[in-house]
Amino acid sequence: MMGRQGVPLILCAPSGAGKSTLVKKLCEEFDLSFSISCTTRLPRAGEKDSIHYHFIDKDTFEKKIQANEFAEWAIVHGNYYGTPLKPLIETLEKGKDIIFDIDIQGAAQLLLSLPTARFVFILPPSLEILKNRLELRGTDSAEVIEKRMKNAIGEIKNSHWFEAWIVNDNLERAYDELRSFYLSCTLAPKLRPQLIKNILGK
Ligand code: 5GP
Repeated sequence: MMGRQGVPLILCAPSGAGKSTLVKKLCEEFDLSFSISCTTRLPRAGEKDSIHYHFIDKDTFEKKIQANEFAEWAIVHGNYYGTPLKPLIETLEKGKDIIFDIDIQGAAQLLLSLPTARFVFILPPSLEILKNRLELRGTDSAEVIEKRMKNAIGEIKNSHWFEAWIVNDNLERAYDELRSFYLSCTLAPKLRPQLIKNILGK
């Protein structure tokens, strides 16, 4: 692939829609880098600093906001989350594709600030199934599940502007759809400004 810029691929979904599994599968199959966000929430069991997130305190996060160190940031479920700008720019300039697991507020900010960004929204087949999945996960209290369900409804209602909707009722099929969308993104002329010049020899 001659001199292509990296694809910033943004994935949004209500929690429980199966987004992390899809992200993991795509990173396993392709040489994609995962955008490691900063967050003020505490690590869950099994989460490692600088792999899943950069876990930082509120004060440090707010200083980074002031210093314009984030490509986007938002408050989600009561905690700060943000995408560090510098590694993002460096990755894209190297021509490496990068996948983001961020919420819809952050995605809307990147829509304005990152012209090559591409946007996918993962939908659960129904609210009932989403709730079942959250309950089965067993990581959240009934109160937190209620909060997440309310959030999910809001996000789903606001997802019309995304370029693709993928309904995750069957993981293999959902993955196939994500894979196809990603591959088509890598072909965008915007990412290859020199290609025509090279072909025409000018
Ligand atoms: P969790 O705490 O379950 O890992 O993530 C909660 C929500 O925050 C998810 O919807 C996730 O996509 C979102 N999120 C994670 N990192 C970022 C980020 O850097 N920016 C924004 N805006 N949302 C994020």
